Amino acid sequence: MLVPIVSNKHQDFSYPRKVIVAGSTGSIGKSTLEIIKNNPEKFELFAISAHSNLALLEQQIVEHSPKYAVVTDAGAQNQFKSKHTEILSGMQELCSLCTEGIVDTVVAGIVGIAGLTPVLAALKANKRVALANKESLVAGGVLVREIIESGSGEIIPVDSEHSAIFQCLQGENVENLKSIILTASGGPFLGKSLDELGSVTSEMAIAHPNWSMGAKISVDSATMMNKALEVIEARWLYNLPEEQIEVLIHPESIVHSLVNFYDGSQIAQLSVPDMKGAIAYALSYPNGRLREVVTELSLARIGSLNFESVDHQRFPALGLARRCLKAGAATSAVFNIANELAVDAFLKGTIGFLDIVPVVEEALTICDVQEYRTLDELLALNEDVRTVLKERLFRKE
Ligand code: NDP
Ligand code: MG
Repeated sequence: MLVPIVSNKHQDFSYPRKVIVAGSTGSIGKSTLEIIKNNPEKFELFAISAHSNLALLEQQIVEHSPKYAVVTDAGAQNQFKSKHTEILSGMQELCSLCTEGIVDTVVAGIVGIAGLTPVLAALKANKRVALANKESLVAGGVLVREIIESGSGEIIPVDSEHSAIFQCLQGENVENLKSIILTASGGPFLGKSLDELGSVTSEMAIAHPNWSMGAKISVDSATMMNKALEVIEARWLYNLPEEQIEVLIHPESIVHSLVNFYDGSQIAQLSVPDMKGAIAYALSYPNGRLREVVTELSLARIGSLNFESVDHQRFPALGLARRCLKAGAATSAVFNIANELAVDAFLKGTIGFLDIVPVVEEALTICDVQEYRTLDELLALNEDVRTVLKERLFRKE
């Protein structure tokens, strides 16, 4: 049975909304700041956070004057001088800002499992989370759903496919939903032979043909791991069994996803590929769309849109995701960490492009893990798996 992800119990939806942008120096973070800056009557920037890009954080502090800025490393805290912005350090500080009464929305734009704790902190404090960080659902889906179902915290998806589904379901009775169809561009190597894929470099993998994104998700797109993670993300967001989550290759990235109803109708959401559309939708929901967020789509200019089914031999990652969903939540956590380690190793040149998915598959075989019940158990599981995989699969690093 599909349970809506939006609880809408106690939220005050009036503008202006106070927003935290976790991961403000990333691709999602920068787009979010642009939307906030363009809509000063609707959004106020309460806090931003960065990890390694302190020069950009400094610029963002000057340009946007948030009340707080959080850096990961305590040693970096003192190098900022700002009259308007208080500089804090560490994940704990970011998490406590996420629970402040004044905050309405937390944009989860941190990459990887590092983004999980602020997501959980914000949801526990009954905040709205505009969720880009899919890894937190892939690894911690059980915990996220438990919090949402027991409180009035809510997620509005930012990942473009999940946002599209969310948009297509507005006003629909979920009982009529037969399946959801996630579109996938196929990444930069869709037409390449397996031989050609063997010599793919990190620079080639990061250059996505349609979307401009951070390094990890770009590599994930090229291996189709991104779609695999998104199938698991959709399972937790929409509470659907994996058989009701389909994937369709659509190289142009114009149709962001579709919903498929029992009456034979499908509804899709279309726009030019620009994450600002999904971010703005999540920030403004349910008060109506913002104006002129992305360039208007011209289907006449595009002329034709293409679709094809997934070739599972070329893209075995999707099969692995389905295997994880059948096995249980802890297996998805292993899948997520193994992929984070594999992408990192590929970006450092330690493993080849074609090694990424087999390494993740091997990790699923090596790591026999217990189901987690709490955040501490999940974090311990993460660390254990990381240690085992570094020893067994990434020893050359
Ligand atoms: P980027 O790599 O561009 O940005 C990541 C952000 O996270 C940066 O602000 C980075 O800080 C911060 N960060 C990295 N590691 C840590 C850490 N250990 N602790 C705290 N902060 C950290 O990623 P994207 O913006 O591309 O992606 C962000 C998330 O959104 C990912 O989960 C991705 O899958 C998802 N997403 C992204 C899309 C896109 O178009 N980019 C589309 C859909 C989903 P710093 O730069 O200072 O090191
Ligand atoms: Mg996506």
